[in-house]
Amino acid sequence: MEKYARSIHKTLRRCEDMTDRWIGLSGPIFIAFAVALLIPCTYAFFEVIFAERFSSSSLGVRCIAGLYCTWHAVLIFFHYYKAVTVSPGWTDSVSTRTSTTTTTHTTTNDIKTCHKCIPPLPKPERAHHCRACNRCVLKYDHHCPWINQCVGIGNERYFVLFMIYLSTACCIVSLMGYSVVFHVVLPLRGSEEWSARYYSPAFLVMLTWMLALFIGAVVGVMGVWQLSLAVKGLTSVEFEDRRAFLKAERAERKAARRSGRPYSTIPTTLFNPYDFGWRENTLLFFNIGQGRRHPLTLLLPIPHPPAGDGISYAKKSPQGGLQLSFDSDSECEEGV
Ligand SMILES: [Zn+2]
Ligand SMILES: [Zn+2]
Repeated sequence: MEKYARSIHKTLRRCEDMTDRWIGLSGPIFIAFAVALLIPCTYAFFEVIFAERFSSSSLGVRCIAGLYCTWHAVLIFFHYYKAVTVSPGWTDSVSTRTSTTTTTHTTTNDIKTCHKCIPPLPKPERAHHCRACNRCVLKYDHHCPWINQCVGIGNERYFVLFMIYLSTACCIVSLMGYSVVFHVVLPLRGSEEWSARYYSPAFLVMLTWMLALFIGAVVGVMGVWQLSLAVKGLTSVEFEDRRAFLKAERAERKAARRSGRPYSTIPTTLFNPYDFGWRENTLLFFNIGQGRRHPLTLLLPIPHPPAGDGISYAKKSPQGGLQLSFDSDSECEEGV
């Protein structure tokens, strides 16, 4: 029985490895697909949806709306380009020197070693090994095939802003495109008048509008999710670790109650040492305010480094509760 269980585990592990490798290799295809959608859809929006929507507006309104939409489109392309090209923070490319952050909070330097990296490399706190990239990433969040790399401390800001700007743009396109699609595109599609007026095929305009509805909903939810983690001072890995721990703890408590075994009746609370409150967490994540960069930089397409070096982090001292050690799968350290 044990032999079968082991071989099933091995097969599942091999499938998981193959999936990770496939995700790692297919990244360029995802990027090419994303760009191949973004560029023509942006063109179709400006040529047809924007032009039709503001055809009867005054020149001033058209100029303001045009400037706004152009600025929004530039921000989307800029943040996508940066999320793809800026390193998430590979541990093999940074010095693991002892360092301190520029904040006034206390720091510690608890550097472990990752034995999945070849050769084994130092693994600072919040770093995690990505199986698709086969490298360790500082403040690892997840591996995203749409940017063909991990989301880590180096590019998390660009990634989240890209999702926010993309989803808000999709909402705008959906709202502006509704009347254009039903009153212009559908009645005129396939006609000579359409060919004489526009370069964009009618189906591309309809695709743009439908994609805006779909992507706006999906990316919007994902963007809000990523932002909510940033506000709580957590990464996706840390959130999953906490959830898995609490789930196991609940199951253990239930099993103990059923079998009559003694078990603490006090619910476990988890302490997050990186949580300084929603405001400070957000400012730290975007590296703005309080001696950092100006908040208005969020609205500009300019490079923006992360707060800190990704090796050591500002941390609160434990105030009770359990503190999960995120570097390992199940280790827990009792808070003081
Ligand atoms: Zn590693
Ligand atoms: Zn990765």
